[in-house]
Amino acid sequence: MQQTQDSNHSELIAQAEKVLLKTYNRKLIIDRGNGVFLYDIDNNEYLDFGAGIAVCALGYQHKDLNEALYNQINKILHTSNLYYNVPAITAAKKLSEASGIEKIFWTNSGTEANEGAIKAAKKYAFLRDKHHKHNIIAFKNSFHGRSIGALSLTGNPVYQEPFKPLLDGVHFADFNEIASVERNIDSQTCAIFLETIQGEGGITPAKKDFLVKIRKICDENDILLVLDEIQCGMGRSGKMFAWQHYGIKPDIFSTAKALGCGLPVGAFGVNERVASSSLAEGDHGTTYGGNPLVCAGVNAVFDIFQKEKILANVESMSEYLINALDSIVEQYDILTKRQGLGLLQGVWIIEKYKNTDIISKALEQGLIILPAGDNSLRFAPPLIVQKEHIDMMIDKLKVVLDSID
Ligand SMILES: *Cc1c(COP(=O)(O)O)cnc(C)c1O
Repeated sequence: MQQTQDSNHSELIAQAEKVLLKTYNRKLIIDRGNGVFLYDIDNNEYLDFGAGIAVCALGYQHKDLNEALYNQINKILHTSNLYYNVPAITAAKKLSEASGIEKIFWTNSGTEANEGAIKAAKKYAFLRDKHHKHNIIAFKNSFHGRSIGALSLTGNPVYQEPFKPLLDGVHFADFNEIASVERNIDSQTCAIFLETIQGEGGITPAKKDFLVKIRKICDENDILLVLDEIQCGMGRSGKMFAWQHYGIKPDIFSTAKALGCGLPVGAFGVNERVASSSLAEGDHGTTYGGNPLVCAGVNAVFDIFQKEKILANVESMSEYLINALDSIVEQYDILTKRQGLGLLQGVWIIEKYKNTDIISKALEQGLIILPAGDNSLRFAPPLIVQKEHIDMMIDKLKVVLDSID
């Protein structure tokens, strides 16, 4: 099925290009969603294996989520952080219980959560050592966000180059190479900062012995382990947080994306040890963070995850997706390998082809998938996805792959 666009579509895109700063290359104007499907303004249907970049875990128009938001709208939207509000307290309790990390700070985005995590780590080391010479270990091919602090930890020279000088004292190690981490550590290292599953750089889960060894190095040297679970957390891996597959816990973590399933909300959490000796009154703040409206949404998200047994669905559907992807990797010479955990999967393509070309062709077939890195495709469907959707996705993908020579 070829998607069609009427003139209104191109007119609106022309208008958009006049008034929006061009930092993205976009083709589609989305109008609405329903379940795991999206519809553009010309009413073309798209099967969504991108979920707004791993955000819309509950798909679109989830009744309980919408109802929780309507109820909150009728009470109050915003209070500032000069006062408590009940949704923020309840949601913090749920996030703390789900993560096993005691103290939560609400933010408006993932990047902002990472900024807070960086500040907490820096302050912890400063209080202990009373100097400013600390460094942070981050990883090549990582992604932590686009603000100056988060960008400083993002191991992608293309993103960093025009914005230098960035934060001082960031050392980039090779992901899943413990020797490289050890080479980069010195007595001034205050934090090791990583995604449990690398996302934007190509879907690469941390190896178990790698992460366990990092935890041990951190414990032995009073270095803080910071896990960025913005993309891989909130159930996407099959556990609430991906580190729960590894039998370890971070000292600090960041979350966002699926936390609000479409609401602009993030958070970072710190354990008691860090909480008692890092950010204190006056050290950090936000106007919107922990806003009652978004926190009412976060509360509903946690409740729906339980009620609808979302983690169990991720477990069974990821097994089905992995089998389906493995079999097409086997079938098509242009695909080289699959990597991932849960419903966050990457498939690599041979260098001759561009992932963005394949993604455009998929769009013409009514399928939304995402790029990751330069040469892989990312599959991150809503966590409510069913077998029939996975079958449909594979059928569409085959049409695309068959058309490539
Ligand atoms: C998306 C993402 C971020 C940035 O989050 P924003 O909400 O876009 O600021 C940071 N880290 C990871 C791993 C991400 O996937």
